[in-house]
Amino acid sequence: MARCRGSDHGKTQAYALTSRDILASDVAATRPDHVTGAKHTVAPAGAVAHAGDRNSRVIELVEWTKRSNARMDAASETFQEGDMSQRWDVIFVGGGFYGVYLALSLHKRGLKVLIIERELGLMRRASYANQARVHGGYHYPRNFQTAFRSRVNLERFVAEFGDAVVKPRRALYAIARRDSFVGAKYFAAFCERIGAPLEAPSREERALFSTDLIEDVFRVKEYAFDSNSLRLRLQRQLETSALSVQLGIDAVSIRPGSCGHELGVEVSLSDGTQHVAGLCVNATYSGVNRLRVEGEVSLDEPRVVVKHELTEMALIEPPVQLRETSITVMDGPFFSMMPFPSRQLYTLSHVRYTPHGHWHETLGRLPPQDPYTALNAYGRNTRAPYMLADSARYVPALRSAKHIDSLFEVKTVLARNESDDGRPILFQEHAQVRGFLTVLGSKLDNVFDVEEVLLSRLGLGLE
Ligand SMILES: Cc1cc2nc3c(=O)[nH]c(=O)nc-3n(C[C@H](O)[C@H](O)[C@H](O)COP(=O)(O)OP(=O)(O)OC[C@H]3O[C@@H](n4cnc5c(N)ncnc54)[C@H](O)[C@@H]3O)c2cc1C
Repeated sequence: MARCRGSDHGKTQAYALTSRDILASDVAATRPDHVTGAKHTVAPAGAVAHAGDRNSRVIELVEWTKRSNARMDAASETFQEGDMSQRWDVIFVGGGFYGVYLALSLHKRGLKVLIIERELGLMRRASYANQARVHGGYHYPRNFQTAFRSRVNLERFVAEFGDAVVKPRRALYAIARRDSFVGAKYFAAFCERIGAPLEAPSREERALFSTDLIEDVFRVKEYAFDSNSLRLRLQRQLETSALSVQLGIDAVSIRPGSCGHELGVEVSLSDGTQHVAGLCVNATYSGVNRLRVEGEVSLDEPRVVVKHELTEMALIEPPVQLRETSITVMDGPFFSMMPFPSRQLYTLSHVRYTPHGHWHETLGRLPPQDPYTALNAYGRNTRAPYMLADSARYVPALRSAKHIDSLFEVKTVLARNESDDGRPILFQEHAQVRGFLTVLGSKLDNVFDVEEVLLSRLGLGLE
């Protein structure tokens, strides 16, 4: 194995040249269903269906990278330190939770992987600035599939990232009397159906809520994650692996691999360098349509039809009686207060005030607005006072909460799920550029669903 080092800004931090064997198989992954105990073929919520011949195409890609790696390994002695024009099995564009987790997963299975991230560090965007809820299904009473998958993934998330999971002293879900899409009875029956435990609140807990506005309150088992701990944990795994990371640089465009190869992709970066890989995974979340694809029929239309929301979550210090508590009022124009362990504060989000604005990247609406530019240019006038004032109608103690700061970030969801509240994954293979995949998950735990599809497409199994 030959190992080289580059600098850590706009350069590959470490790379290793390895040779390996990849076993390709076309067997669909199966695993026990944690909720029912039944065995079932994995069909992750909302995964885009694939034609049968796609599997064999990705297997071809893996075979191609094997051959090209063999050539590259033979030539490795001639590589200069810092030479960025290299071949990889898989390049991940985007070093958020998705890019890093999936890259580590493939790396553990012997693939030579590179992560390209435009920020100067990993997990600095949506994977940091989010509500930190480890979803357990309670939040999606209008979408059985999303709620059910959340329960399945919850166990694995807690098992893998237990040290980054924070369990508040009490987690309360309250159902509003008016304007809620669901009533208390429906909510209780739904939770039973998905196997999500509910308990009656204590008298003191019930008394936190306005009886005029709240129909019922439930004690639930819902946790928060500490995104800093998650990042540190993944970073430690990166440090002990030979996986390569290139920070502070944008992937700009992608095109079918040259050098006479039918398969594979070439990724061009903002500094003019290129990388060649068998497969490129676009894991850029709100940047999903930024990566230009050369040779695409239309360069102007978005590949993925999404809705972007410019969001604000207020960071607050709740009064003493609400410490170590999370509160979610369901299911409509209400609010959530969750611990935000990375700052030792609490987030307050409000369905009406958290989105400051939104836009769609839709076929025919051009040009798509770059979400990062839009966020940078935004004035960021806080709406925390409105969030607090409305939330305090339901939970009067919130009147004495203190607004400390706010997190602004772009939230991106598939446009087709706006009305049904579903949070499926997107796993898309580009129609024209073979070896270019786009993944998008709406919450952190969905990464396990994406991983299953990815491994299955590559013919690599879960351990
Ligand atoms: C306000 C809000 C609240 C949320 N609440 C929750 C919650 O409570 N629980 C939950 O599980 N999920 C929540 N989510 C969703 C969750 O944050 C996302 O599903 C998750 O972070 C997506 O991870 P990612 O790695 O795909 O995205 P990101 O963390 O955004 O990573 C994508 C990375 O790609 C990089 N990038 C983009 N374009 C390029 C390029 N061309 N070249 C190089 N790098 C590029 C970006 O810099 C970024 O680091 C919330 C999201 C938001 C915004």
